[in-house]
Amino acid sequence: MIKDIVEYKTDDKKMLTTPTKPIIFDEEKGLNKLIKDLTESCIEAKGLGLAANQIGISKRIAVLMIPKDEHFLDFERTVLINPEITSHEGEMIEEEGCLSFPGLYKFTRRFKKVTVRYIDEKGIPMEITAEGLMSKAIQHEVDHLDGKVFLDYALSDEEVEKLGLKSANED
Ligand SMILES: [Zn+2]
Repeated sequence: MIKDIVEYKTDDKKMLTTPTKPIIFDEEKGLNKLIKDLTESCIEAKGLGLAANQIGISKRIAVLMIPKDEHFLDFERTVLINPEITSHEGEMIEEEGCLSFPGLYKFTRRFKKVTVRYIDEKGIPMEITAEGLMSKAIQHEVDHLDGKVFLDYALSDEEVEKLGLKSANED
C-alpha cells in the first residue's frame, strides 16, 4: 500500500530525528507487508530510497531503488534490514535531496565508498561495498534509520560558493 511520507517541516519531526529500533528477523510480524509498502511508496514518490521512519514506522529497515541506467526505467531493489556501515573510504561532494524535504536540494559531503552489513528480505546476512549513487543512497538511508537527516551533512552557502558548485535543481 502506498503510504504518506513524513515531511520534516509539517509532520512529526520526532519520527525523523529518533533512532529506529532494530528488527529481530524471525520474530518480526508483517515484515513482508512493510517491505511491500516501502517499495510501493518509494516508487510512487520517485525516490532512490525510503526508510521505514519516513512512513511513520520506527524500525531499522529501508529500501533502495537504484536505477539500472540513465533512463530511470528499470530499478534494482535492495532491502536493508538492520544496516550498519562497517567501513568507508574517500569523500565526494554531490547535490542531494530527500523525500521528507520536498523541493530542497543541498550539496553534501559524503564518503565515496562504503561497505554496509545488513540482513536481506530473506533473512540472509549480507555485506556489500558500493560507490557513487549507491554509496550515497546507502549513507542517506542509514542516516534516516539513525535519526539523522541529510541537512546534517550539507555544505554552507559560503563553502558552495567557494568551491564554485552549481545546482542542477535550481530554476
Ligand atoms: Zn531521505
